[in-house]
Order: sequence, then C-alpha cells, then structure tokens
Amino acid sequence: MSQSSWKDQIKKKWGPHSHCPICGKAMPTDKKFCSQSCKDNYFESERKQKRKGRLQCIFLIVMLVVMMLVMFILPLFG
Ligand SMILES: [Zn+2]
Repeated sequence: MSQSSWKDQIKKKWGPHSHCPICGKAMPTDKKFCSQSCKDNYFESERKQKRKGRLQCIFLIVMLVVMMLVMFILPLFG
C-alpha cells in the first residue's frame, strides 16, 4: 500500500493518460475534463473572463468618449 505501487497501478490500469486542466487529476486522453463539475468550472471561469474582457472594452470606449468630449467641449468654454 505504498504510494509508488499505487502510481504503478494507475499506470497499468489507465495506460497513457492526460491530466484534468482544472484539478490536475489523471484521466483518459480522450476526455477533456475528469468530471462534470470540472467541466462546469472551466466554462464558468471562461465565461467570467469573457465578461471581464467586455467590461474592459466598454471602459476603454467610455474613456475615449470622455476624452473626445473634453477635447471638443473645453475649447468652447475656453
Ligand atoms: Zn478535474
């Protein structure tokens, strides 16, 4: 019941395998995630990142508009 024998067992049992990108667990190569929860986790974080990117984009546009407004309006009052 040592760790090395456990690893050998996994090797023998599963052969070539890849690791889950979420939790790092060993899993069959034809799978992308080890479990449904890891899959959900992955898509959840991806969606969050996309939302973050969109927010940054909106922020940039708002900044640009504000800068344009300042550039056009300030001379009117100057
Ligand atoms: Zn996993």
